[in-house]
Amino acid sequence: MVLRSWVSSANDRDTDFPLQNLPYGVFRTGNENHIGVAIGNQILDLRGCAEQGLLADLPAEVVSACTAAVLNPLMALGSTAWSALRRKLTTLLGEESAVQETRERVELLLAPMNNATMQLPAQIGGYTDFYASIHHAERVGRLFRPENPLLPNYKYVPIGYNGRTSSIVVSGTAIRRPCGQLKPQQAEPAFAPARSLDYELEVGAFVGPGNALGQPIPIVEAEEDIFGLCLVNDWSARDIQSWEYQPLGPFLAKNFATTISPWVVPLEALTPFRVPAYERPAGDPAPLPYLNLPNRDCAGIDLTLEVYLASESMRRAGTAPMLVSRGNLRHLYWTLPQLVTHHASNGCNLRPGDLLATGTVSGPEVGSEGCLLEKRDRPEPVRLPDGEERVFLEDGDQVMFRGYCQKPSWPRIGFGECTGTIVSASVKG
Ligand code: CA
Repeated sequence: MVLRSWVSSANDRDTDFPLQNLPYGVFRTGNENHIGVAIGNQILDLRGCAEQGLLADLPAEVVSACTAAVLNPLMALGSTAWSALRRKLTTLLGEESAVQETRERVELLLAPMNNATMQLPAQIGGYTDFYASIHHAERVGRLFRPENPLLPNYKYVPIGYNGRTSSIVVSGTAIRRPCGQLKPQQAEPAFAPARSLDYELEVGAFVGPGNALGQPIPIVEAEEDIFGLCLVNDWSARDIQSWEYQPLGPFLAKNFATTISPWVVPLEALTPFRVPAYERPAGDPAPLPYLNLPNRDCAGIDLTLEVYLASESMRRAGTAPMLVSRGNLRHLYWTLPQLVTHHASNGCNLRPGDLLATGTVSGPEVGSEGCLLEKRDRPEPVRLPDGEERVFLEDGDQVMFRGYCQKPSWPRIGFGECTGTIVSASVKG
């Protein structure tokens, strides 16, 4: 039987945040940042719960972690602690399980989500961006190497690079168009506002306890090291990228801003939506043994990912954002546990709150491209309802990602929104 919550909005069919989700985030209340849990259209103040003794039967370190201003201490505790807290919250918020007196105390700790100010959920010490979608890698590769889109390492090595954490911002933060060196063909490089500004639709995994320096994370333990998932927009300036990226890879084309959604969905909430990992086509090499999944049958996640675009004029006219692509996380060539294990395979230490992003998630079909660059393959540019066309993003464009897991027998598990609006460059070229 599917459990219901006494928070009535959590039982709405369309809510992202039913009792079965319970994602964690950090919100501003008074002059403080508190950890909160999303339930329907409300946020439950976890610090309040801890201080009111509502979590008293949990281990002291769990209660203490709930009073922090970031999720890192909770992330560090590991999956046994996460499960215990999740069970407790399910009891406190459940229609059948919460006794009246407790329910009245919990009710006082709910805050409406629509006027809450969300913060970054964790202090992010390290940010790594991968390239795990083969459909993205092939489509982008084809633009540059039509005969040979995939480089020979792709099916062996989960490709990634170290990103920058200081410019990771929470959903809703304005994104300033970056300036940089642009090198048009047959012209000298010049410093100017980027013209080929793009989004990248990605999913981020927050690291749990992590590993000591020098100690790898075996693939059988890698899932235990994932606290939860969020949406990531890895904004990219393609014209800066194409001039700067050789030989060391992305730098200023990527690190001017990265937007993440404020709610971190626990991996446990996604259990009903686990699916087999992407099937490698016949003839592809098997992963090397250290990357060989112990649970291929349920190593993937059926998570639908959508990109919406609203230009400034559309927003002014009250036109709804336009869906520009829809993909699914299940198409990743490299799964999240493989990314964790590969990252630590050389002894590199991952720490609680580190963020590993998948890289642009694209599917095989037309319409599932996770960035505008891939749409260059298509004969027509993106046409917005107001008649404007887009090859890349213009100033005033608002990009919104949504993610959700859905099936008939289970409440929808949503990720909320990951949104950013482009503002004009601060220096004119
Ligand atoms: Ca990326």
